[in-house]
Amino acid sequence: MDLDFAPENLKFRDEVRAFIAEAFDDDMRAKLAQSKNGYLDKEAQVRWLKRLGAKGWIAPDWPVEYGGTGWSQAQKYVFEMEMALAGAPSTSNMGLQMCAPVIMAFGTPEQKSQHLPKILATDVWWCQGYSEPGAGSDLASLSLKAERDGDHYVLNGSKIWTTYAQWADWMFCLVRTSNEPVRQMGISFLLLDMRTPGVTIRPIPTLDGPADGDQEVNQVFFEDVRVPVANRVGEEGKGWTYAKYLLQFERGSAYAPGLSHQLAKLKKIASLERSDLGGAMIEDPAFRRKLAELEIKVEAINAAELRVFAGRNAGEAMGATSSMLKLEGSQAQQAVTELALEAVGIYAAPFVEDTWAELRGKTNVTRAGPDYAAPIAPTYFNYRKTSIYAGSNEIQHNIIAKMILGV
Ligand SMILES: Cc1cc2nc3c(=O)[nH]c(=O)nc-3n(C[C@H](O)[C@H](O)[C@H](O)COP(=O)(O)OP(=O)(O)OC[C@H]3O[C@@H](n4cnc5c(N)ncnc54)[C@H](O)[C@@H]3O)c2cc1C
Repeated sequence: MDLDFAPENLKFRDEVRAFIAEAFDDDMRAKLAQSKNGYLDKEAQVRWLKRLGAKGWIAPDWPVEYGGTGWSQAQKYVFEMEMALAGAPSTSNMGLQMCAPVIMAFGTPEQKSQHLPKILATDVWWCQGYSEPGAGSDLASLSLKAERDGDHYVLNGSKIWTTYAQWADWMFCLVRTSNEPVRQMGISFLLLDMRTPGVTIRPIPTLDGPADGDQEVNQVFFEDVRVPVANRVGEEGKGWTYAKYLLQFERGSAYAPGLSHQLAKLKKIASLERSDLGGAMIEDPAFRRKLAELEIKVEAINAAELRVFAGRNAGEAMGATSSMLKLEGSQAQQAVTELALEAVGIYAAPFVEDTWAELRGKTNVTRAGPDYAAPIAPTYFNYRKTSIYAGSNEIQHNIIAKMILGV
């Protein structure tokens, strides 16, 4: 296993650091410091993506002929690591990371020229329409009906948990075009303009606070929604194949650098907060023990991720390792939010409405605690999602059992 970065990669690392120092502006930093879910609002996400685009760094995983960077695996790793270590904005860019690879691999020339340049320029926002009520882990049971009517499909049904559907111009979605004995065979992959008549988006309020325009998830309803057949990617009934192809791009990136950034933030907070023993929270023996356990876990995840990186560089397949890392990485993310909750103590207690009241124009309610405490409880609640989306913990355990233990 060769973990050393070559001198040219260290030079590249300095270039990435210089970019972050300039592009990750004070407004983004201030917004992220108050974010409940680690994301910026739409305007700031687009601003960040356009800065990456102007630098030519927006699509490291795309082939060069479509606008990719042509980076080596080592450069991609350095880039990702530096971004996460600096706490730079993560983006929910499903067009770039998930839909575009499918269009490139299976789309028509018209679909490629219509969508890929706009995705690269961040001129459109995409959402992912896979899950339905009753079809999540068991995705093949999806039932959103698409009936053929001339050169259109007519859609009826709903999608659920659709991240930022309220911001989206387009959705890539899986629909049922026929009922086959093998359920996977009646599924097709469609590109859908969200402004088509009959599409209704309903916010889903979550535990991290009221849904008032910046909600993360939605249910999307389709009532006689007409989608041109020309918007189908690939063959009718082959959507499952394309969906499986796409899911490989949904795999999480390296967890350890982001976790290190979160731990550094947590330590800062714990050095400012006081424990019941009178001293700083970070001096509290019980808290220190938990913090040390978590730091050791993050070190172990880092070592495992570097091993995977070295293996990928040498052409090895990921196998069950990606499930193992998703499992450990998402559990560690949740553990950081739990310790942060402990560190701020009672300041995690106020209602979210009160914590953000001042920002929403209510002048008679002031924050109970320091600004850094405000997003701690909402983030703790929000991060329950990490063990559900992109394959729940139980599903990852099943994959590991099947691939490693052969059960
Ligand atoms: C914040 C968030 C954002 C999301 N964004 C999107 C999005 O943009 N687009 C989209 O399409 N979807 C999205 N999802 C949906 C996500 O993919 C599903 O929530 C996930 O696949 C789980 O499906 P489910 O919610 O239907 O739960 P279910 O599949 O019903 O699972 C319920 C419970 O049963 C367990 N379980 C299920 N099957 C098994 C099994 N075989 N063995 C053992 N245990 C099992 C699960 O682990 C879980 O604990 C999002 C979800 C969240 C939380």
